[in-house]
Amino acid sequence: MKYPAEPFKIKMVEPLRLISREERITALKEAGYNPFSLRAEDVYIDLLTDSGTGAMSDRQWAGLMQGDESYAGSRSFYHLQESARDVFGFAYVVPTHQGRGAEQVLFPLLIKPGQSVISNWHFDTTRAHVELAGGKAIDLVTDKALETSTYHDFKGNIDIEKARKVIEEKGKENIAFLIMTITNNSAGGQPVSMENIKQASELAKEYGLRFLLDAARFSENAYFIKQREAGYQQKSIRQIVREMFSYADGYTMSAKKDGLVNIGGLIGIREEQELYQQIRSAVVPLEGFPTYGGLAGRDMEALAIGLQEVVEEDYLHYRIAQIAYLGDRLTAGGIPIQTPTGGHAVFVDAKKLLPHIPFHQFPGQVLANELYVESGVRAVEVGSFLLGRDTATKQQLASPLELLRLTIPRRVYTYAHMDVIAEGLIRIKEQANDLGGLMFTYEPPVLRHFTARLKPILEK
Ligand SMILES: *Cc1c(COP(=O)(O)O)cnc(C)c1O
Repeated sequence: MKYPAEPFKIKMVEPLRLISREERITALKEAGYNPFSLRAEDVYIDLLTDSGTGAMSDRQWAGLMQGDESYAGSRSFYHLQESARDVFGFAYVVPTHQGRGAEQVLFPLLIKPGQSVISNWHFDTTRAHVELAGGKAIDLVTDKALETSTYHDFKGNIDIEKARKVIEEKGKENIAFLIMTITNNSAGGQPVSMENIKQASELAKEYGLRFLLDAARFSENAYFIKQREAGYQQKSIRQIVREMFSYADGYTMSAKKDGLVNIGGLIGIREEQELYQQIRSAVVPLEGFPTYGGLAGRDMEALAIGLQEVVEEDYLHYRIAQIAYLGDRLTAGGIPIQTPTGGHAVFVDAKKLLPHIPFHQFPGQVLANELYVESGVRAVEVGSFLLGRDTATKQQLASPLELLRLTIPRRVYTYAHMDVIAEGLIRIKEQANDLGGLMFTYEPPVLRHFTARLKPILEK
């Protein structure tokens, strides 16, 4: 079989519009050669992110109608709590408006100013909330994650020996907690093995530290464990999820990924009554009353259902196979990609594809722009343009990798769309030598990649 067919049929469609090549050239110019500034209407296939961009099922849409909008004690909250308990096995849950809301509420309760937080890799907002709470975020991903063209089963793992060294050097009283991001988003959606989760948890226990999960893509991680880790082939995804969470004391989660909803987040606490009560107090001024936390009752209802659907094996099989299919098509067409493909995206190696464009002219961004002009596909640069400048010297930093991320929304696009994406990139490869670099016309001082404006150095 070439690929597993979608385990759903389509009940409602959202028309796509492909504007002409001339219109795309104009739209990109108006957007300052930065796809973030394009109007979504001018995009044919949108691969900017997998966050909040998924499609809900008919059951979830039906759930929206049944949402209980009571301010306190909503039936939908209790449904969500029951569903989260069932999937994760944790006693307590507090909803938040999205993942960063969960971080904003929980982290100041756990971090004393000056303490460090250890992770396989902090996601951007996770790092920001560690720092806002006065902490220091330390990323200790395995070196294998940086070998883009070499296959490793679990490139998302934390380096346990490095983590032990950091705890020893800093002293355990200077560490707030350990947090494992599953899958490892910043390493390209690469999974973390059960063994590594277990070892990290044991390390934390040894030093009396809390062990948390950043669980945005928990079920994609569980699927990789089932596929790749010895001893898990016969276990169900639900069993694997329960085991992953059995090693943790708590979790934060962006529900916009494996929650299969467009907005939402969660904080989960295994058993600590006192911490749970602190969270319930802290959430009120930041997100809302603890039984809604910034979500409408209908959103909680949809999330309760989404948590059950995302652990279905045929869904996960289709999901991961679709990403792998796009990766295989690109590889067959001679496009260098990060190997193996992860759970939610394919990363194209723009440095290898456009070796003549130096890092400070942003090869990944050049490729993103060309892909939009060629096919109407919007992807996102993950390289020097995203990285920015040294805070002290103001020099542009050279990212070790110049990547183009093709992020695949859940249950939204078909295999035919994957073909459009792959064929566009393969056509670009033929004229890769003709592409030139970019320079700034407007460079904002912080998080510049969202709003910066650029122009081609050699305007055609
Ligand atoms: C998306 C994400 C977050 C933040 O969640 P939001 O819902 O975007 O606020 C945190 N951690 C990881 C790993 C994520 O992927």
